[in-house]
Amino acid sequence: MDNNTVLDQLVRMSLNLGKPENEYAILGEGNTSARVDEETFYVKQSGSYLCTAACESFVHVRFAPVLAMIEESGLSDDEIKGRLMSARADSSSPSMPSIETVFHAYLLTLPGVSFVGHTHPIAVNSLLCSHKAKEAFSGRVFPDEIVFCGIEPVYMEYVDPGPALARAIREHIQEFMDKQGVTPKVVYMQNHGVIALGANPQEVEAITAMAVKTCRVLAGTYIFGGPRFLTKENVDRIYTRPDEEYRKRQFRQ
Ligand SMILES: [Zn+2]
Repeated sequence: MDNNTVLDQLVRMSLNLGKPENEYAILGEGNTSARVDEETFYVKQSGSYLCTAACESFVHVRFAPVLAMIEESGLSDDEIKGRLMSARADSSSPSMPSIETVFHAYLLTLPGVSFVGHTHPIAVNSLLCSHKAKEAFSGRVFPDEIVFCGIEPVYMEYVDPGPALARAIREHIQEFMDKQGVTPKVVYMQNHGVIALGANPQEVEAITAMAVKTCRVLAGTYIFGGPRFLTKENVDRIYTRPDEEYRKRQFRQ
């Protein structure tokens, strides 16, 4: 895919995620990204709105200088901004990459991930900002959650956005991949929001929609005594069923 095709797809995905009726993000909330090639990716510029995304809303950025920031703790806010500006592939572009560019860079290096969508949906944050957050995401509640969002999500406690958050995400994802042997589909960040990792824009949109539905269902279960999680046998069966494999493959075409 050439740069323009990737950027067009990223703009469309961002507009879909930013639709006001979805309630995934308001104002400048949320950010999206897409891998262009081994060297570079596009990421939303700081402060722009998903609901009015256009080609100019994205910055073309080089992986290497951004990934290097993950290794450095103790960068000041000004240093982080300076590093992000100097990581732009086109230094004549006036746009500043989002502060969350660091975790986007890391996630876009994972196997099977070419598009990333990070949003703050009301339905998801109602749970993530609650005392029951960790418990609510400790099990799976219905089959389609597993089909679209994977065998389990990555769940993490609150971390300050920027390189520290990217480091914490990397640690949790490496732990997940050691255990499950696959790339996760969803990361839930306590008191913050959700990240969907996809091979293409359709997968990111579907994962986000199903994560939101999962959270609505979970919220409903707390009215009726709390979630009754599927058993491990149920979860493993759905995760490996051939017909579900077929449905999962629909995204990968
Ligand atoms: Zn965020």
